[in-house]
Amino acid sequence: MSRVYNFSAGPACLPEEVLKEAADEMLDYQGSGMSVMEMSHRSKTYDNIIKEAEADLRDLMNIPDDYAVLFLQGGAWTQFSAIPMNLMKNGVADYIVTGQWAKKAWQEASKYGKANKIASSEDETFSYIPDCSDLPIDDDADYVYICENNTIYGTKFWQLPNTKGKILVSDVSSCFLSEPVDVTKYGVIYGGVQKNIGPAGVTIVIIRKDLIRDDLPDFVPTLLKYKTQADAGSLFNTPPAYGIYICGKVFKWLKKQGGLAEMKKRNEEKAKILYDFLDSSKLFKGTVRKEDRSLMNVPFVTGNDELDAKFVAEAKAAGLESLKGHRSVGGMRASIYNAMPKAGVEKLVEFMKKFEEENS
Ligand SMILES: *Cc1c(COP(=O)(O)O)cnc(C)c1O
Repeated sequence: MSRVYNFSAGPACLPEEVLKEAADEMLDYQGSGMSVMEMSHRSKTYDNIIKEAEADLRDLMNIPDDYAVLFLQGGAWTQFSAIPMNLMKNGVADYIVTGQWAKKAWQEASKYGKANKIASSEDETFSYIPDCSDLPIDDDADYVYICENNTIYGTKFWQLPNTKGKILVSDVSSCFLSEPVDVTKYGVIYGGVQKNIGPAGVTIVIIRKDLIRDDLPDFVPTLLKYKTQADAGSLFNTPPAYGIYICGKVFKWLKKQGGLAEMKKRNEEKAKILYDFLDSSKLFKGTVRKEDRSLMNVPFVTGNDELDAKFVAEAKAAGLESLKGHRSVGGMRASIYNAMPKAGVEKLVEFMKKFEEENS
């Protein structure tokens, strides 16, 4: 067996310990005689798995009792629709568009109501986070929406926008559990887990309970109403059962590492290694305004498409996988989520130095 350093933006690398544990339990989960994959989601054993996963997540993020935790399917994309359907009362929401994901969320919301684009960084290929200290928040806005870490462009909101009292809704798909958060600052925190938590197929929604309504219009599909799954403990229909089980293992792994404060420290350390090199390199350069840099996704370019392609190919041959940038930015992108060890980032920088020497 030989494992590579996987810099994929998502689905992405998972902690090796978790994968090994899952492998050990594959055929016989704790004496049940079956795999979690084969188990009824109505069984006592599975009920313990999902309840424990929720309890551990609550513990890790310090989620207050007046917030519900939902384990859903459909990816972050489905939430682009669910959010306006559930939260628009006045039919108005304000969107801060800092990348493709926020833009898609804004476009989806426009189908249900008046979705205002109140700020954007599209003028400079989303390479920065706009000033959000005094935005023209609509008096009638039901919420203000952000994508907190922009996976494709490598930017991060280091300061939450001033929503002037409106509820904040945040897509944290690619920075979920990368650092401590103050849940009380949000109405909804949500994300697909396949970036920084677990396998594709699970979407976690953390929502303040008073925002879960039972007076939604009839056209809202049953499974897109938060109330449906909140009332059923995420077991209204078959949940993404195996994925939730793996997420639960990752939560335990994170707790064992020292929790989110420790992850933040490690993530800062790892990102610094890469950004310091980018800042000193004559060949490679980061594409993001320094103060808005993400700790999770690091895009960089040489400025020469052929050289970029050569880099990606040679890196792959050296066991550094999936470094090709998103098609809308080009160049390279290293996603260095929680599960990427420091040694992986060090090896990448070492490789970049060697490549720079050989190609300049
Ligand atoms: C990947 C990603 C999405 C889309 O997620 P799906 O699960 O594929 O729907 C949305 N938002 C962000 C920030 C992402 O990184």
